[in-house]
Amino acid sequence: MPEATQRISEIYQQVVERNPGETDFHQAVKEVLDTLAPVLRQHPKYAERKIIERICEPERQIIFRVPWQDDQGEVHINRGFRVGFNSALGPYKGGLRFHPSVYLDTIKFLGFEQIFKNALTGLPIGGGKGGSDFDPKGKSDDEVMRFCQSYMTELYRHIGELTDVPAGDIGVGAREIGYLFGQYKRITNRYESGVFTGKNPSWGGSLVRREATGYGVVFFLEEMLQARDNSVSGKTAVVSGSGNVAIYAIEKLQGMGAKVVACSDSGGVIYDPEGLNLETVKQLKEVERARISAYVKHHPHAEFREGASIWDIPCDLALPCATQNEIDEAAAKKLVEQGCIALCEGANMPCTPEAMKVLEAGKLAYGPGKAANAGGVATSALEMQQNASRDAWTFEHTEERLHDIMRNIFRDCHNAAEEYGEPGNYVVGANIAGFRRVADAMLAFGLI
Ligand code: NDP
Repeated sequence: MPEATQRISEIYQQVVERNPGETDFHQAVKEVLDTLAPVLRQHPKYAERKIIERICEPERQIIFRVPWQDDQGEVHINRGFRVGFNSALGPYKGGLRFHPSVYLDTIKFLGFEQIFKNALTGLPIGGGKGGSDFDPKGKSDDEVMRFCQSYMTELYRHIGELTDVPAGDIGVGAREIGYLFGQYKRITNRYESGVFTGKNPSWGGSLVRREATGYGVVFFLEEMLQARDNSVSGKTAVVSGSGNVAIYAIEKLQGMGAKVVACSDSGGVIYDPEGLNLETVKQLKEVERARISAYVKHHPHAEFREGASIWDIPCDLALPCATQNEIDEAAAKKLVEQGCIALCEGANMPCTPEAMKVLEAGKLAYGPGKAANAGGVATSALEMQQNASRDAWTFEHTEERLHDIMRNIFRDCHNAAEEYGEPGNYVVGANIAGFRRVADAMLAFGLI
């Protein structure tokens, strides 16, 4: 029925017109909408009740001024954002990103993706995202603290354990979450642990939350490979980035018998043909907050390639774990030509639409971020469970729960792809399985 395709195309045009200049948001919406025509055909109620149109419009968007003073007393003004995209399945849930490139478009694309990702976890969490154009890089601890306190002085009135629960993302790690939660606690006069996830385990955080996104990506990758009678063990892998997601993806890859030969940061790429020494990467990034180029001082046989593309390095497994649109058409072609067999996304939307086409034609096993990197938010929901019951689970128990969730997400993506006639296409599977859960809840709630 061509009407469904026509309808989808009209909805997309409206999104572009109503959100001018927000190209990342347009890209994220298009990627989902392009897979939904068969669902509209099968379930006309979704079209009648304008579910897709409603999903594309955030429930609320908050933009605010964040003034703060640096160590020299100079005043700076940043901009803060929080977008509550969809609360059909639970409180808004999604991280905060602090990076100079952040503007409303960034937060909306991430928030939109988060709706479907969170639905795929099967846990009671809606979709949201937030952040600021503040750059924590090069700032002192005190400057980061003052910024976080000012940011929370506005944000606190919009969040709550039953309303909106932020966490970390690029530029927001354990340090920032400590300052943000501390200020929330002070202003509200409540020790409301469930209002934030990614907390330190010594004050209400969950074990495995730090590792969860990276581990989860590798669990998803292993499921994809096993469906093709293959496995991670014995493969050569390349992981972009060297932040939270990248580090723990590398840890799990190595634990499962893969050799990881490269990682990166925004300055360039480290190529270590003998296999990366993860202890050095952790020391540089988690302790010293240094640049990845310093790796070669500790391991002179390795190579630092300034400003180079990591995707030129031959590998069996490619794991983009840095940022959006980091794999373009040329990079995707290079990966396919050099015999890469699987690409699994730790980052959100790391492949451009052109790159996705190349990967699909190349018949790689392709794990989309909204499914593959859902382990972080899933473990955040487990952190909320522990907070609600005033409990703390062991590492082993929590990792097993994460592993089960990732297996279930894979199964749901796999089954939805088969049901809609695209076996092995996990982009289609993830979008449809996530969308249907949210859409059914929205139908049940009436026109709100
Ligand atoms: P971190 O801030 O810990 O690390 C980000 C890494 O990516 C750093 O190595 C950084 O290098 C690099 N990077 C960031 N921006 C760019 C850029 N524009 N160009 C090149 N390199 C860049 O963030 P996370 O590891 O938490 O997040 C990485 C990705 O994973 C993001 O897409 C995020 O949305 C996604 N994600 C994160 C989750 C989590 O639980 N943390 C959950 C799900 C998805 P440098 O330090 O030089 O900037």
